[in-house]
Amino acid sequence: MASVDEQNARRGFTVQTLRNKARRYGATVEGGVVGKHASYNIDAPQGKVWAASSTHALAVYWRTDEPAYRNDSIVDALERMEEGLADCDDPDCDICCEAHTDE
Ligand SMILES: [Zn+2]
Repeated sequence: MASVDEQNARRGFTVQTLRNKARRYGATVEGGVVGKHASYNIDAPQGKVWAASSTHALAVYWRTDEPAYRNDSIVDALERMEEGLADCDDPDCDICCEAHTDE
């Protein structure tokens, strides 16, 4: 299907693209721009990790004066998100130890 992502790809990806995609996974995008450095973390929902990296957050970085760099970084992050979420299986995980005690 002609997805919103494809339309965005023609226009150029933005942080909003990341936020829209993250929302579908119940994830949140934190971060911002300092000078010419854009740095964001895409935080997986409680108790979940990103399957692509087995980490709770996907790091995304680009330089604001390099649109192609931004596009590549966002495309990479979207692809990693598309691999989906997995349960965090680290019993000593500091980030979601609260969730583990509930199980
Ligand atoms: Zn965890």
